[in-house]
Amino acid sequence: MKLVDYVYLKRRLIQELEDKLSEESKKKAREDHHSRRPPRPCGMTVHTGIGCSLCCVYCYIYDMGFPRTVTPYPLTGLEMLYALAINPYFAPGRGGTMIAMGAVSEPFLPETRDRTLEYIRVFGMIKNPTQISTKMNIDDETIEKISRYCPHISFLVTIIALRDFRKLEPLAPDPYERFESCRKLINKNIHVSLFMRPIIPGFTDRDAEEILSIAKDVGIRTVVLGTLRVTRRIFKNLLKVGVDLSRRVRKLSDKEQYPIVGHDLKRNIAKLAERLGLRVYEAACGANIEAAGLGCVACDWGPCGYPDKIPHVDERDISELCSELGFKISKTMVRDRIVEVHVTSGSRLDVLEKWLKELTRRRVVIRKV
Ligand code: SF4
Ligand code: SF4
Repeated sequence: MKLVDYVYLKRRLIQELEDKLSEESKKKAREDHHSRRPPRPCGMTVHTGIGCSLCCVYCYIYDMGFPRTVTPYPLTGLEMLYALAINPYFAPGRGGTMIAMGAVSEPFLPETRDRTLEYIRVFGMIKNPTQISTKMNIDDETIEKISRYCPHISFLVTIIALRDFRKLEPLAPDPYERFESCRKLINKNIHVSLFMRPIIPGFTDRDAEEILSIAKDVGIRTVVLGTLRVTRRIFKNLLKVGVDLSRRVRKLSDKEQYPIVGHDLKRNIAKLAERLGLRVYEAACGANIEAAGLGCVACDWGPCGYPDKIPHVDERDISELCSELGFKISKTMVRDRIVEVHVTSGSRLDVLEKWLKELTRRRVVIRKV
């Protein structure tokens, strides 16, 4: 598939959805922020619900204003698909924009599960790399549906402590039950990664070896590691359960989240994982790319996935894409890891940058000349 074909695919998708949806649904989708916000480094984050009732002590969503009560996200599956289709940053298709669900709520709570399944179904239809993170148990019927709807999905299952997990995750399922869900998902050929994020000093490092060994036993082959980010409230919450971060925080605020100094912990856990033969990713999108059977070198953490699956693109491909997106360019260069374009006219260079990054899976340099 040529790069420009993704633009045609997007137009066809928009047309098909406009034919299917009512005026009210289209209006709802247009007014929703999924129709206009840019993807984050991990891809386009999609909310399956609003709020979370699990009250993990390290959770930042409560500082962002999300409630402890849960409601499913108001857009139906097709409305969400339409919102993404009309989002100028979003490229549909197998090699298109990565999608990530589960950043600001738990997607498999009883209140959110059906909505989540609707979204998985429509994302399976357009085949974009799709990822979901969870710490819930997934029942057999749900697993069956997921494997039918979106067999290339990347599951991130969070397990960051065993012995004292209740101090950190008072209402989440037991980690051993989460491992059982991993086993069942893997038996259905679904790509599952162990999500050790956030690494909590004194908890995650203490249990890491055991967590990683069990993960390997249930069939997990990849691990995503991530440092803890704290607000003042999280700092205090963790202190109450015995985690004193005073020597690891550089900055604290009521609203902003700042990462703690945790490279040492991450490095040690990565070493343990690699010793067990597990593949370690520094960012969740690495697991998403791998599950989709693709490769990516768009940042220093790459190569991720399959290096031989990084798209083969040439100058002509890029020129056609830029032109169809409304940009005039005077020069294009494609190297192993970098794409550079010199733009002479066209607005929204940020949109062009996202398209080029997602479709070429390389770092992008844009010069306005
Ligand atoms: S499950 Fe996720 S969203 Fe819910 S409280 Fe825990 S960390 Fe926050
Ligand atoms: S190289 Fe890996 S970590 Fe970087 S953007 Fe690509 S998938 Fe993500």
